[in-house]
Amino acid sequence: MKYVKEFRNAELARAVAAEIATLAEPGRHYKIMEVCGGHTHTIYRHGIKDLLPDQIELVHGPGCPVCVLPMGRVDEGIDIAERPEVIFTCFGDMMRVPGSRGNLLEIKAQGADVRMVYSPLDALRLARENPDRQVVFYAIGFETTAPSTALTLQRAKKEGIENFSVFCNHVTIVPPVRALLDSPDLRLDAFIGPGHVSTIIGCRPYEFMPADYGKPCVVAGFEPLDILQSILMIMHQLAEGRCEVENQYARVVPWEGNLAALRSMAEVFELRPYFEWRGLGFIAQSALKISPAYSYFDAELRYSTPGVRVADPKACQCGEVLKGVLKPHECRVFGTACTPEHPLGALMVSSEGACAAYFNFGRRAKEKVGATE
Ligand code: SF4
Repeated sequence: MKYVKEFRNAELARAVAAEIATLAEPGRHYKIMEVCGGHTHTIYRHGIKDLLPDQIELVHGPGCPVCVLPMGRVDEGIDIAERPEVIFTCFGDMMRVPGSRGNLLEIKAQGADVRMVYSPLDALRLARENPDRQVVFYAIGFETTAPSTALTLQRAKKEGIENFSVFCNHVTIVPPVRALLDSPDLRLDAFIGPGHVSTIIGCRPYEFMPADYGKPCVVAGFEPLDILQSILMIMHQLAEGRCEVENQYARVVPWEGNLAALRSMAEVFELRPYFEWRGLGFIAQSALKISPAYSYFDAELRYSTPGVRVADPKACQCGEVLKGVLKPHECRVFGTACTPEHPLGALMVSSEGACAAYFNFGRRAKEKVGATE
């Protein structure tokens, strides 16, 4: 498959890893954060960590939108889904995310009309097909998925579809990264920038990392050689005393982003003054809400969601993992009270969750042994 096989070549991967090793100074510890959960899964699925020298530590960032959603927003989605007039639609990985009193799959089993969709346009189609019901789409994701929600709302407005609304939980990538850089808990040397988000926003929004914090950032793709090459580019910057934004994923990411998608987003959304992030607290201008021009389709207004705050379960350490302060296996309930079958936190459920990556790709046994040595 073009652009897949070429980026999984084991011989090339070993050669790039060897070059990375030559650039790692003995005695120096390098902490590199991969912002995106998709990168975390590539790293563990393909054993990339095992190819790197010991001096390089990869820290997992907050770039999984399901994981960072606070429990109060999960509960509010469930409250809407339980209304008898509602067909509640969402992406598959939201179905098992735990709220304080269960998840969407459980309330579906109890009779709520919850349906998995692959796109917000599927939800809009359901609204056309069920004019006597209210169809709500649980919108979630970074700038990667926000344009498809925006285009769907533009179409709903154009067609005058009245029984459709969106519970908007879209978030933006730059403010939480800035919050992490401001945090005294974490010392990072560089960032592997998120590839999918960058197809929409481009590379320019990351320029604050070198400019304001002196940290290199390399936007990377999702195949093993993409990750290794991005680490090599970071190591070259650090070795040469350079500090800039570079684009490893240029075959997909335009430097200026996708202007048509950004225009749709600007028409349909506006920034929320504050939004709560699991583990990171309230971050200014870090999420999107539906703009006044589209407020008719805003499920928060239609169903008067109260904006409740709900604390995570006491045993759960998702917040520390999301901040990169703890590794997943260091959570006290990892692999015991919290497993993919019985998740306590969203990081164990989501296809981009760091805990799911550790659990599913065999890191658990080795890391646990390492942790107790
Ligand atoms: S193991 Fe479970 S509770 Fe602990 S951080 Fe991961 S998802 Fe959260």
